[in-house]
Amino acid sequence: MTKIYVKYGDQGLKMVKDILDHMDIAKQLKSTMSIGIKPNLVLAKPSHSGATTDPQVVAGIIEYLQDHGCKQISIMESSWLGDLTKRAWQVCGYTALAKRYHVSLVDLKDDSVRSCQTEDYQLEVCSSPLNVDYLINVPVLKAHCQTKLTCALKNMKGCIPDQEKRRYHRLGLHGPISQLNTAINQNLIVVDSLIGDLTFEEGDTPVQMNRIIVGQDPVAIDAYCAELLGYAPEEIDYIILANKLGVGQLSSNIIALNQEYGQPITTSTTISHLRPFINEDQACSACLGSLFHALQRLRDKHQSIPSPIHIGQGYQNYIAEGIGVGRCTNGYQKNVPGCPPSAREIITKLREFTNQS
Ligand code: SF4
Repeated sequence: MTKIYVKYGDQGLKMVKDILDHMDIAKQLKSTMSIGIKPNLVLAKPSHSGATTDPQVVAGIIEYLQDHGCKQISIMESSWLGDLTKRAWQVCGYTALAKRYHVSLVDLKDDSVRSCQTEDYQLEVCSSPLNVDYLINVPVLKAHCQTKLTCALKNMKGCIPDQEKRRYHRLGLHGPISQLNTAINQNLIVVDSLIGDLTFEEGDTPVQMNRIIVGQDPVAIDAYCAELLGYAPEEIDYIILANKLGVGQLSSNIIALNQEYGQPITTSTTISHLRPFINEDQACSACLGSLFHALQRLRDKHQSIPSPIHIGQGYQNYIAEGIGVGRCTNGYQKNVPGCPPSAREIITKLREFTNQS
């Protein structure tokens, strides 16, 4: 079964290097390889907005590659229709990053295009991601207003020309996104789940999750990440379609390289419409982030949210009535186990506690 590696913390650069070291990715690399790194710079907003890939995560990848002798490294992206990639390079910190590590920036809006026949579509794809020897996809884990989730599979949509982006919307997104992933081969996926948006791909409702997730199967990554945001993989059509097309597996073996417990608590999330339901005392970022996503998914479906929900290390050793989320609150009469639980696990339990299906 494919393996997915998870590390908790708030030091993106070091976390990435630690995971790649653990996976011994170096054995897949050659110094002569051309390597493309595809972050998510959908628009010109810094990563703390929840919209874009933290440049420190990409810095960790570059340092690892350069430590193992790789020299031909380029970062490639095409921002969405409403923004200029070159503006995103600047605002998101990639101009400085490229200068610091002597790597090139490829604006895919200026790239040549190749035509790829997939099962149902003739898709136009930018040449650079197709031409590299090794492609590293670095999506942000965040919610999406149309496809519910954007992560590994959907991040490849930044590798197509602008006129194709318009056409994908006319085609309903899910079909062409899944088939695009039969045309582009991703060798490695490093998910920036440090901060991602609660509801929209363009950010401004950031949820701090303090996680890095790494794997080599984009379907397995997206299926796992869907659960972290409160969705069953079956609720996101392009994941299931990509699985049927043979892009990857739905199930995986999750290997956590450290525990959330004991990591620095750096949650800066302020989601005012959900805060009134929560009594929080020293909650870890991933735990509180899961709870925010769970409550938002219940709200999206107009389901009732019980209150108050207790969460955090400050509730350890409490014996009390009411609801607690996470191992720290296992003395509460109604407890959601896990450390941290996923948003989907929280939703399942909260529905059970409130007799909702
Ligand atoms: S249960 Fe939640 S708050 Fe408690 S240590 Fe685990 S992740 Fe942190």
